[in-house]
Amino acid sequence: MEAAGKPRIVVAGGGLTGASFALAVAAPDCPVLVLEASPATAQAGGFDSRSTALSWGSREILEQLGVWRELDPAPCPIDRIEVSDQGHPGGVCFDSREQGLEALGYVVENHQLGGALLAALKQSEHVELLAPAELAAARPIAEGIELTVRQHGGERRLTAALAVIADGGRSPIPAKLGIERRTKPHDQYALVANIALGQPHRNRAWERFTAHGPLAVLPLPKAQGVHRASLVWTLPEHLARENLELAEKRLLARLQADFGPGMGQVTGIGRRACFPLQLSWVSEQIRPGLALIGNAAHMLHPVAGQGFNLALRDCASLARVVGKAVARCQSPGDMAVLQQYLDEQEFDQDKTILFTELLVGLFSGNSAAKAMFRRLGLLALDVLPPVRRRFASNAMGLGLF
Ligand SMILES: Cc1cc2nc3c(=O)[nH]c(=O)nc-3n(C[C@H](O)[C@H](O)[C@H](O)COP(=O)(O)OP(=O)(O)OC[C@H]3O[C@@H](n4cnc5c(N)ncnc54)[C@H](O)[C@@H]3O)c2cc1C
Repeated sequence: MEAAGKPRIVVAGGGLTGASFALAVAAPDCPVLVLEASPATAQAGGFDSRSTALSWGSREILEQLGVWRELDPAPCPIDRIEVSDQGHPGGVCFDSREQGLEALGYVVENHQLGGALLAALKQSEHVELLAPAELAAARPIAEGIELTVRQHGGERRLTAALAVIADGGRSPIPAKLGIERRTKPHDQYALVANIALGQPHRNRAWERFTAHGPLAVLPLPKAQGVHRASLVWTLPEHLARENLELAEKRLLARLQADFGPGMGQVTGIGRRACFPLQLSWVSEQIRPGLALIGNAAHMLHPVAGQGFNLALRDCASLARVVGKAVARCQSPGDMAVLQQYLDEQEFDQDKTILFTELLVGLFSGNSAAKAMFRRLGLLALDVLPPVRRRFASNAMGLGLF
């Protein structure tokens, strides 16, 4: 890893983002060291019960990383998205055929995607995975950045030309470096679980706007004869906590009441988990020798399923810019290199955050004005195919807005 003349890149965090970036950037002239704090994650057992809706663009990136073909079962394609507003008839449908695409997106379980990424990391000749190992501190030095790594109860220091911080939304590193994390809490929690359906989902996803907040159901591949889907149920804190503990039968009745008849009968629910929702972002994503990516840089509300899709586009862009710099013998931690990455991605980040916040604002709460605006919005999407196509392409991360 410390071969003479080769700049070293250290990635802190082997979650979905860190592992994707490491795979994207690792090359014979660009060795990468990945530090992962959780022994369970490093064994692919640390991923929770969430699933991720991947855009078409994310599929292409994962194909380039050689990870897509390793996903078994294959991610479930989304052929149709049915959007509705609780208490109001009608709604709007997005269809892959209307977009001229094979699918509107794909759904993969996080433990499956995380497992495939980690397996690819372990197979790569240009990546070294250190786990459990925790990045404790980072300090800029003349040659790049000095990192303090905690492992087996001890600490050691190493230097890197570039440290890529991908250790999640609670990363302590920015604060230690005087980088501010700005937070806009949404006063909402997401209750997440896999659910069993009484009938095939036919590759449909549902998004329903309820008085509590948006409720999403994403299709999953069938397992052991069970028609499965992934639930993301946005709720105020007290209801999310209550539902976390509620007996299954009562919970299913509540879910069915919020959902209405649209997706048919829900017959069972798996392990439940709860996530507080917020928008958070750091005041600086790059410094000489340092880049923050994924949740460490920006954490989004899951309503539009954009967080990881955006992180993947950031990973691909940073890896491309860094790869080019290394090829022309420029340090990957050079501020001009990192600025090029940010110039490339900042508009995408701002646009994705804005789109997500717009949906959260519009589709949470039940004031008469909002409900009216929502109904008009859904009506416009329903009757104006060009508007619907633009909306869908933005939601799919195709960047056509
Ligand atoms: C309910 C919900 C549903 C979502 N659905 C979607 C969706 O459908 N589509 C989508 O695109 N996005 C979705 N997202 C967003 C997506 O989950 C995140 O974008 C993604 O998980 C971010 O991953 P990450 O690797 O950046 O961070 P994390 O998942 O937090 O990973 C950080 C990693 O760093 C490790 N670590 C922590 N500290 C250290 C340290 N000091 N040193 C070394 N390692 C460390 C951790 O163990 C962990 O493995 C959803 C989010 C939520 C909450």
